[in-house]
Amino acid sequence: MKNGKLIFVIGPSGVGKDTIVNRVVDGDSFCKAISHTTRDIRPGEQNGVDYHFISNSEFREFIGQGVFHEYALVYENYYGTMKTSITNPLKTGINIIKIIEVDGAREMQKIYPDANFIFINAPVDVLKQRLINRGDKLESIIKRLKRVEYEVSCIGMFNSVIINDDLNVAVQEFLNLLK
Ligand code: 5GP
Repeated sequence: MKNGKLIFVIGPSGVGKDTIVNRVVDGDSFCKAISHTTRDIRPGEQNGVDYHFISNSEFREFIGQGVFHEYALVYENYYGTMKTSITNPLKTGINIIKIIEVDGAREMQKIYPDANFIFINAPVDVLKQRLINRGDKLESIIKRLKRVEYEVSCIGMFNSVIINDDLNVAVQEFLNLLK
């Protein structure tokens, strides 16, 4: 069987990566690879759907077992890509979409140089408003906005850029890139 396509989605916090990806995944030809994280679950999120929410000690144990392709400490929490979350579905011909931050994406470019890396961007005031609307705490908003400049400075590493100031347009552009 032919391997599926692998697509990575990168972009600053509040840019709408999850919203775009959730519009595209259909559980059939396009599936989302679910990350493991130590951050607290947000209202409305589901364990095993949005993330696998695990403790710091579980995460460290997984690191020791070498089961991650990559992991990163972001906003004081760990996030990681379990190898099998990518390799198993790819083998079955399913296309995989994985949301990841820039340092993890850099690692994944070494492992999967032929994958498609799509950066989603939006003006900073739009990001800020989305984080406020999402109900993030002020401390978290400040941490996340501080990282925007770094993430955007890495934009040149990626295959394509989409500006998400209109969700329907951004989703359509995303779908066009997957064709
Ligand atoms: P959030 O807390 O907003 O869900 O995610 C914070 C950041 O972690 C986002 O930039 C997201 O792309 C990134 N992220 C999510 N999963 C992974 C992962 O498996 N590995 C890495 N390196 N970053 C991830």
